[in-house]
Amino acid sequence: MRLVIIGGGPAGNTAATYAARLGAEVTVVERDVIGGAAHLWDCIPSKTMIATGGAMAASRRMRGMGLEQHEAEIDTPALEERIESIKSRIQRGVEGLLSSQGVRMMSGSARFVGPNEVVVESNGETETLKADSFLVGTGSRPRIPDWCTPDGERILTTRDCYPPRVMPSHIAVIGSGVTGVEFVHMFASLGCKVTLVVSRQQVLPSKDPEVAAVLEDDFLKRGVSLLKGARAIGIDRVEDDKGPGVVVRCDDGRVVRASHAVLAIGSVPNTDGLGLETAGVELDRNGYVAINNHCQSNVAHIYAAGDVSGKLPLSSVASMQGRKVAEHVMGLHTREHRHLDYDKAASAIFTEPEIADVGLAEAEAFAAGRKIRVTKVPFSASAKALINNDSRGFVKIISDPATGVVLGGSIVGGNAAELISVIALAVTANLKVTDIVESLLVHPALSEALADAAE
Ligand SMILES: Cc1cc2nc3c(=O)[nH]c(=O)nc-3n(C[C@H](O)[C@H](O)[C@H](O)COP(=O)(O)OP(=O)(O)OC[C@H]3O[C@@H](n4cnc5c(N)ncnc54)[C@H](O)[C@@H]3O)c2cc1C
Repeated sequence: MRLVIIGGGPAGNTAATYAARLGAEVTVVERDVIGGAAHLWDCIPSKTMIATGGAMAASRRMRGMGLEQHEAEIDTPALEERIESIKSRIQRGVEGLLSSQGVRMMSGSARFVGPNEVVVESNGETETLKADSFLVGTGSRPRIPDWCTPDGERILTTRDCYPPRVMPSHIAVIGSGVTGVEFVHMFASLGCKVTLVVSRQQVLPSKDPEVAAVLEDDFLKRGVSLLKGARAIGIDRVEDDKGPGVVVRCDDGRVVRASHAVLAIGSVPNTDGLGLETAGVELDRNGYVAINNHCQSNVAHIYAAGDVSGKLPLSSVASMQGRKVAEHVMGLHTREHRHLDYDKAASAIFTEPEIADVGLAEAEAFAAGRKIRVTKVPFSASAKALINNDSRGFVKIISDPATGVVLGGSIVGGNAAELISVIALAVTANLKVTDIVESLLVHPALSEALADAAE
């Protein structure tokens, strides 16, 4: 079985590793770096900056821990060096894994020239690759609206922020979804003044209002300005008595004068120039490759996984899709293969407090008229949260009142991204609330709140 994969991000490199392990002859074509946008611009650098911001914020909270307070200062070159070093270690790790499995890594840009072959262009040279199966794992890129032109200096996309050339004194964040709120948190923790332009009345409009309220409260306490019900319609560079900066114009006439602006308004799929039409591959109405449960496009031997498939834009989901593609290509789906259930994917927002959820949401259940049992415990009742000097947030577990099976949950608080794994496992394995209650957990630990919420 010959498999050609376009894109070396989480979708592509995971599919490559598993398919090679299962005996396929695999080639990965990557035009940038193995590891993909996830490692280069998204997950890794953003979380590294957030970790530095978190350390700065912790230094500001020292007094509450019985210590003298010292204000930490950012060392921008050292921060940049740290980001680069983490990125390159992870990249080397992924490349090492692929080469240990005998995967061929090709540097270049690939495009289909028919349903059974792609051409790879690199430094003016071309090579044609034929295969039995193909995987399109080309990811996505930040959406740029037609009302502004990012310049990488003052008007930024998320990719210009690790760290920005000049650390903002005041940054306007456009977009209040997951990426937007993470960027608010990141810049606020690093000591920048932040204004968040929120087009609706709630930050994180797709999340549980109770969850969003904890975050809004935290933002306000940290001095973040929330411009609610305002849709940005233009961003201009200005030079005035405050120095160089930007003016963000909103549809209701309000303006924000800031030193920088960053766009966090979603992404678009990387499908252009791929020759998908030549291969007969259909896109959905939003331009993503339309796939079935096995990640196959309408052309059965051409698969798509990761952001380009328009499912959940998460690195974890991309990797799992890649794994499922490998299993399907190698014929394993007839045995142990389980379809990916996107509704059971855990996700986290790396703000402070962290926010994580999985499975059925309360609002979703009510909208569907489904009977649920909702139990909630605040972290203010947790000994470990008090010891940590951070008792914000709560654990909420949603279960089936008739069977006790755990259907979903959300956690707002310290280490929520780690803690949600317990509920994610329960949701995936159809465990009951009693399975969590009867687990012998560590004391004192934040996880005790999970058992209390499951009671
Ligand atoms: C700011 C930000 C933070 C994020 N943080 C998280 C997080 O904390 N956790 C999480 O789970 N998700 C996070 N995400 C989402 C995550 O980054 C994506 O879901 C993930 O990168 C998708 O992986 P992928 O393999 O589909 O694509 P990518 O990682 O985008 O990789 C695709 C690769 O394909 C290559 N490529 C494209 N076209 C071609 C071509 N024609 N020829 C050769 N190569 C090509 C590209 O160069 C790229 O390397 C974040 C996203 C953003 C924007």
